[in-house]
Amino acid sequence: MKKIILFLISIIFITGCSKTNYDITTITHQVNNCNVAITYPETNINELDNSINNYINSKYEEINNTTIELNIDYTFNIVFDRYINISLISYINNIKDINKDIITYIYDTKDKKLLTINNIVSQNSIETIKREVQKETTNLNINIDNFEKLIFDENYIYIYLNNDNDIIKIDIPIHDTEFLLDTNFSYKLNNSNTYQNINSKIINPYEKVVAFTFDDGPSKYTEAIVDLLEDNDANGTFFVLGNKVKYYSDIINKSISNGNEIGNHSYNHKSLNNLSKEDFLYQINTTQDIIYEISGYTPKYLRPTYGNTNSKLKQYTSLEIVLWNVDPEDWKYKNSKTIAKRVLDKVKDESVVLMHDTKERTVNALKIIIPELKSQGYQFVTISQLKEIQEIREKIGYYK
Ligand code: ZN
Repeated sequence: MKKIILFLISIIFITGCSKTNYDITTITHQVNNCNVAITYPETNINELDNSINNYINSKYEEINNTTIELNIDYTFNIVFDRYINISLISYINNIKDINKDIITYIYDTKDKKLLTINNIVSQNSIETIKREVQKETTNLNINIDNFEKLIFDENYIYIYLNNDNDIIKIDIPIHDTEFLLDTNFSYKLNNSNTYQNINSKIINPYEKVVAFTFDDGPSKYTEAIVDLLEDNDANGTFFVLGNKVKYYSDIINKSISNGNEIGNHSYNHKSLNNLSKEDFLYQINTTQDIIYEISGYTPKYLRPTYGNTNSKLKQYTSLEIVLWNVDPEDWKYKNSKTIAKRVLDKVKDESVVLMHDTKERTVNALKIIIPELKSQGYQFVTISQLKEIQEIREKIGYYK
């Protein structure tokens, strides 16, 4: 039986920067027994939307009778309140081979034009980037005469290169380049998304910070943690499981609007490094999609299940992998005082603490930990904020 499922999800969200509304559209259906799932931004900017549509159409044309899956995913980011950065990542499974491809767009909403690398960094920096890329791709047969595929955010330029049927991503710190664009960089810390007013706490980058992370939720204990954080002017990062998200959509939205960050912890907690690429992408993208559907929020970070990671996993996802350096093992120790002590003994400036918002004892431990660290002058930040602070500290030579 030929089954055709077609549905469109359009969520209008308000960007932090302009009157224009952007939509993210997801199309899933079957074309000649090929599973198609495409998610892409609609920007209401003709030049950009037409380019995106052309790319999508060109991928439909690549479907042949051996193709079992076409998946196009996207990234969308407005940087420095001015530059729209979009990437479309396509995945075509022809049973015998899998083709991955990426296309990127950088659009300047002020000058109303698409930008290339020549608009973004000086000629000098292009040569520097070339050397950097050469270093990282020595054994690969890659043509690096030009960099057509790139996007950037507040901290990095991301260069994408095709290698056989796969994509290689190289991160170049912006402050290592002569960056030509208007950064208008403000020291007010951004949260990971700019689409809504986020109740960000005011953070001093030169005072102690700690990033609390909570895995395996949401659960019935999540809200207590969200409230505890809010009562203490604190934020944290919740690495959620996709298969539970929709049942706790209210608490996730509350968490986001309090300024917390949501990360991806897979769909159903399979060990990610044992999975095929396809299964891995399913775990990740499904979770991203569900979070986006219920909240309009796109996580930037992946906390791999069991902390297991490998180089393949890193290539498969554009999400940045975030591990931890303080682990009280709250799944093992049953006593909240013990858990609290295990955190307080180890924590220091810039620590990333692993906890689980699935147990009452963790909530009780946090009731001890958070006020104590607050009295020691700690500020409680999200992963995005921690990274931003580390960038700032790096730039001003804070560590010297
Ligand atoms: Zn976990």
